[in-house]
Amino acid sequence: MNTTSIQIPYRQHGGLSNAGRHIGKAVRARKDLAVLIVQVQEVERLCAAMGHEQAGEILDDLYMGLRTIARDDDAVERISDRKFAVLLSGLRNRGHVTLAANKIGRLAAEAVEDSPRKIKLGTTIGIALYPQNGKDPAELMRLAEIASLDGSRRHDPVCFFEEQAATQLFSDWGLELRLEDALQSGDLEVYFQAKTCLKTNRIVGAEALMRWHEPEIGQISPDVFIALAESTGRIIDLTQFAIQSACRKLADWQKTSAGLSVAVNVTPSIIQSREIIDVVQSATSIWGVSPESLTLEVTENALMEDREASHDVLTALRDLGARISIDDFGTGYSSLAYLKEIPADELKIDRSFVMGMHSDSGDRKIVEHTIGIAKSFGLSVVAEGIENQLLLDELRRLECDFGQGYFISRPVPADDFEKLFVGQTTDPDASG
Ligand code: C2E
Ligand code: MG
Ligand code: MG
Repeated sequence: MNTTSIQIPYRQHGGLSNAGRHIGKAVRARKDLAVLIVQVQEVERLCAAMGHEQAGEILDDLYMGLRTIARDDDAVERISDRKFAVLLSGLRNRGHVTLAANKIGRLAAEAVEDSPRKIKLGTTIGIALYPQNGKDPAELMRLAEIASLDGSRRHDPVCFFEEQAATQLFSDWGLELRLEDALQSGDLEVYFQAKTCLKTNRIVGAEALMRWHEPEIGQISPDVFIALAESTGRIIDLTQFAIQSACRKLADWQKTSAGLSVAVNVTPSIIQSREIIDVVQSATSIWGVSPESLTLEVTENALMEDREASHDVLTALRDLGARISIDDFGTGYSSLAYLKEIPADELKIDRSFVMGMHSDSGDRKIVEHTIGIAKSFGLSVVAEGIENQLLLDELRRLECDFGQGYFISRPVPADDFEKLFVGQTTDPDASG
């Protein structure tokens, strides 16, 4: 899903070398200096809405606008079609630099304010300070560039250089390359955790949970690599891998256990883009499994991020036949009114409440009420994090429909999961 960026012709002035000269001059004069790298976002959208020529003019105007607001000792240089270096001298503290950066952000927003199309021109501004962050002009420019990358990653429009964030960024880049290799090499594997019907004690399906065993680093937690994939644009590849692997296994298992289903987790960005619809459609048709036997688990918080976009995508997925489960329910901020509108089939009670049920009366109440809410909205309800017999018995008493947890089974490789459900079809009366 890598996007290639369009280059727009632009009027070159001094560029990088001029910026370096300006910084050098200020450094020699021992003046406080802030080096700002201003990166204009969404230039592709601007081109798509207005055409390249007009988009180029808007960026030219923005450059001229920046030069107009610069004071005598400041400097503005254009580094590329969509990137500028702004050097501000004599600002007393970070607060003043932030104010100046916000002003630049507003200037970019105003550049398209009158556009007839719905366009929002955003900027990410990375800032390095002299003398705090460095003394060498080229180094200051590099640090401001790092801050700007850090800002884009964190969706923070104004970002000061921080040593720790830079270290994190470089270590993530290393991990990112390894993740790309892992997708090709088979170091990523999908494990399956049994989901049982609490009434009959039978396995009805599994949740697919990704595992990454990196040959040099060892086991890397899904919380780490999923977040990494999300921030580096690789999440759709990972999700596709999980869905394809799950459907491939399911097709095999359904030959003997027709009713078995599988659930795959999806992140906020996945349910805000329609790409997932094709992924589900093609995986289910390639492996010949019915979309009804595939559930997509979406966290409650993910649903709240862009309600309109996620509502559309979830509705389309359900129209295909796939089921939607609201994961980690109870940890987010959705209201009951919103619950009424969500196109969902299942609530999954967060494991923290389930695990705390016996020691914390508040947790118990949350579990009880969530089961009640699910039933009154016509949704099925799953408890995750069942770690012992007591919890299992209690959830049965509360008439929770399904359960998952270490007490039933840990997430295990596909072959081990298969051993768990093979044979149970001949034992329909097994009950707990
Ligand atoms: P989740 O979807 O809420 O998955 C349940 C997590 O609880 C899993 O952690 C599972 O191993 C763990 N768990 C299950 N039963 C118990 C129990 O009885 N006690 C305790 N303490 N934990 C239990 P895991 O595998 O580390 O996954 C963490 C999270 O990473 C998942 O939370 C999910 O949000 C995400 N994740 C995992 N695989 C994928 C994937 O393929 N795609 C996406 N987008 N996210 C994934
Ligand atoms: Mg889940
Ligand atoms: Mg969960």
